[in-house]
Amino acid sequence: MLEKPLQYLKQYFGYDKFRPGQEAIIRNLLEKRNTVGIMPTGGGKSICYQIPALLFQGTTLVISPLISLMKDQVDALHHHGIASTYINSSLPEAETEQRLNAMQNGEYRLVYITPERLGNQSFLGILKEMDISLVAIDEAHCMSQWGHDFRPNYLRIFPFVQMIKSQPVILALTATATPRVKLDICSHLEITEENTVATGFSRDNLFFSIIKEENRETFLSRYLEKNKEEAGIIYAATRKTVDQLYTRLVKSGYNAGRYHAGMSEKERTLEQERFLKDDTSIMVATSAFGMGIDKSNVRFVIHYQIPKNMENYYQEAGRAGRDGLDSECILLYSSQDLRVQRYLIDQSNKEGELLDQEVRMLNIMKDYCFTEGCLQAFILRYFGETDPQDCGHCENCSDERSSIDATTDAQKVLSCIVRMGERFGRTLVSQVLTGSKNKKIDEFGFRKLSTYGILSNWSAKEAADFIDFLTSSALIELAGGQFPVLKITPAGRDVLLGAKKVYRKEQREIEQRSFDHSLFESLRLLRKEIAKKENTAPFIIFSDAALKDMSVKLPVSDADFLKVKGVGAQKFEKYGAVFLEAIRSFVQEQSGSEKAEQEKNHVPSYLLTYQLYQHGKNTEEIAKERDLSIASIENHLIKCMEENREIRWNEIFTEEEFELIEKTAEELGEQGLKVLKEALPEHLTYFQIKAALMKKTASDGA
Ligand code: ADP
Ligand code: MG
Ligand code: ZN
Repeated sequence: MLEKPLQYLKQYFGYDKFRPGQEAIIRNLLEKRNTVGIMPTGGGKSICYQIPALLFQGTTLVISPLISLMKDQVDALHHHGIASTYINSSLPEAETEQRLNAMQNGEYRLVYITPERLGNQSFLGILKEMDISLVAIDEAHCMSQWGHDFRPNYLRIFPFVQMIKSQPVILALTATATPRVKLDICSHLEITEENTVATGFSRDNLFFSIIKEENRETFLSRYLEKNKEEAGIIYAATRKTVDQLYTRLVKSGYNAGRYHAGMSEKERTLEQERFLKDDTSIMVATSAFGMGIDKSNVRFVIHYQIPKNMENYYQEAGRAGRDGLDSECILLYSSQDLRVQRYLIDQSNKEGELLDQEVRMLNIMKDYCFTEGCLQAFILRYFGETDPQDCGHCENCSDERSSIDATTDAQKVLSCIVRMGERFGRTLVSQVLTGSKNKKIDEFGFRKLSTYGILSNWSAKEAADFIDFLTSSALIELAGGQFPVLKITPAGRDVLLGAKKVYRKEQREIEQRSFDHSLFESLRLLRKEIAKKENTAPFIIFSDAALKDMSVKLPVSDADFLKVKGVGAQKFEKYGAVFLEAIRSFVQEQSGSEKAEQEKNHVPSYLLTYQLYQHGKNTEEIAKERDLSIASIENHLIKCMEENREIRWNEIFTEEEFELIEKTAEELGEQGLKVLKEALPEHLTYFQIKAALMKKTASDGA
């Protein structure tokens, strides 16, 4: 039925089908019914008004809370070939004047404004007389006191809209779906239940997990180390923590930015720009950062401290993976942070029911951290979904994936503590475990303990971290004040007795890429160069998802390129040629290097074998890889032995076998290989015997 919208979706935005909710909302608007649209962050709310804006006669007005984001939205529209603009207080007067004129002449399909602008009498005067067909209210939860970003100016919108003579249809959009907020929006805009379109809130590409009490600095550095090339946001509860964390990351050489309300407007804008443009890859921020931020390639969102409620949490976590690629949302929990949040609530001078509500919401966050069920399902239930399915890939759904059995290591540590008499702190215990030569250890006679050096392949720091982890898992408790000593808890005894297992989370890399990573990276660079020239954010040119799709599909013709996800007519026209060029030359290089591979065959075959051998492969593996018999590979290796190349003798025979061959060969003298073979146990092969003789010659010669 909705042919035109679908056609526009492809033509302007390059997508083949609507996401859940989009079509229903668009249909409603085309039938002139005021609508509330509730979709998760990243669900694709913008298209719900952008496509109608193209279909309607008049102008669409978009009300959005943040000045800083309008430019991006409008930039993005220009890249799709859609006439649009924004009007806000950041513009010089002359510019505003010009845009107002153009707006009056109906030159824009979309005009973005803040709710504050509606308080401007002359602006309102113009609007009233214009042909406004649609008013879209983004982040509509700002209307509700029960939402998390209440903005009184949002309450002025509805009365203003009613003054516009062309009687525009209204669309209110939000990602906050608690029943109370929904009710507020509906009743305020006089919209009925049947004109509320709410999609499921699940985000299938998000991987939720919770890290409890472990040493968070170690966790963070290991995590960031593993995901160096990705963009991510780290949320902290206070400005102070943001500053500290930021400083530490920058010192350790990370490309980080920061954002909180204590910084000047100018600084904040700058930091935000740098992040959007991929100049910085990690943003450390308070929850002041990010409303409406639609940088689509955020690969992880880490909450360094527990957020104060689920609305904030899901909104912030939801900033990961808007492009639909797998992304992680990690919450670092510690009981101390819970107290920090509680303190902040107490300081916020809320009273009565509002205060109770905040405390309740914080407790729900705590429950989230301790639930053993699906994390995504927990969130969905909170937002009112009655029977959400398990996501199948959050930490709780896939425990094996991210947990390793650490029972044996835990037993080693616990028994060491017992043997040391439960009288020492974590430093000394770590040193005993790792076999430190510290004098104190001698003095106490700990070298004689069976647990001395039992973890000698660990560093003392690793052992200490592991002790912290066991402490947070309540297997060890700290007794005493300033210099606490480690004691075993009853649960710890169960572990020692083998009655209880210990699991520890392992970090993993975010993506298992099944496409060409080097091409993806070079397309990213290309995108960045172009963005720099055009002074816009890279993801506005093409999303990561689009670049990934290019790396998978390797389009070399115009028609193929148009099939790439996220490539519409306008973008194709603007960037198709450059990107096609890059992909073509990549494909050529690839086939070039295949040729080089063939040329390598002029290299003697035994040396090709040796190359693989040097990479640690054994004869079977090499035979398989080169599609040759094992015997040929063995011959190749013999030739290498003749040339005195390095050989891993211990893979060919044991010390005993070698001695036996050596002895027998000496006894038999020069009677030939066959005789020698017959004199030896049957399981020894010709290859082993030949090799042993080679080794013998080599060592005799030396
Ligand atoms: P929201 O405002 O709901 O958080 P956006 O409107 O910013 O989400 O859209 C998030 C991302 O999803 C954008 O990169 C957008 O281009 C993409 N998107 C929107 N609709 C579709 C669709 N039908 N198919 C594929 N991607 C889409
Ligand atoms: Mg949005
Ligand atoms: Zn799950």
